[in-house]
Amino acid sequence: MRILLTNDDGINAPGLKILESIAATLSDDVWVVAPAEENSGAGHSLTLTHPVRIRQHDEKRYSVTGTPTDSVMLGIGVIMKDVRPDLILSGVNRGANLGDDVTYSGTVSAAMEGTLAGVRSIALSQVSSREGMGDAVPFAAAQAWGERVLRPLLEHDFGDRTLVNINFPALSAEEIQGISVVRQGFHDYARGSIVKGTDPRGYDYYWFGLHGIEHTPGHDTDLEAIGDGFISVTPMQLDLTDYDAMGALKAVYDG
Ligand code: MN
Repeated sequence: MRILLTNDDGINAPGLKILESIAATLSDDVWVVAPAEENSGAGHSLTLTHPVRIRQHDEKRYSVTGTPTDSVMLGIGVIMKDVRPDLILSGVNRGANLGDDVTYSGTVSAAMEGTLAGVRSIALSQVSSREGMGDAVPFAAAQAWGERVLRPLLEHDFGDRTLVNINFPALSAEEIQGISVVRQGFHDYARGSIVKGTDPRGYDYYWFGLHGIEHTPGHDTDLEAIGDGFISVTPMQLDLTDYDAMGALKAVYDG
């Protein structure tokens, strides 16, 4: 099995090292194609307005001067053109990718891009106990449970247009309650904070912050599972159509 690893925290992120050690338990043919710089919050963006370059660091290790989506596209289309991957793992992200936040996530979007290219793709994120920890986020849960969560997914056919989103709770390996397959949740509070400041030249700027507000997650959601100490596993589909709403919307136009 040939595995391609990527992330949105950049080629030097600690979580990528963790993912490399997890992938090594699954295969000895592991490639890395990741953004040269951090791209958290990049979502599924594709670089169209300027050229992107590839830098080779080792035989199977490359960085890309672009987004996570750029990395997967160049990984499959150029770097691994003749040795296509069987599996794409994205992460382990520094921080959660839960609920509606997945639409901002470069980590999850890299797995979406892999799925679009027809490669089995899985996103992995390590929840942190509080925001603003930077590289101090402990990856103990992901490290200890990564192989155990991934191995059953390698044999299981989860569908051509489906990716899997995994989050590890901010707990020690022993404190984890188990693995829970749950749906995507929604936050019941407003978006993250916007911090206003003034730059050295006297101009105002705005900086988006992350939210850390307590909330009550919906039942059987990824948010609830993480709150209860479980590793969340959520299958996600690329088809965003709301089939339940189609009939009513057709009626709007048909009179
Ligand atoms: Mn990130």
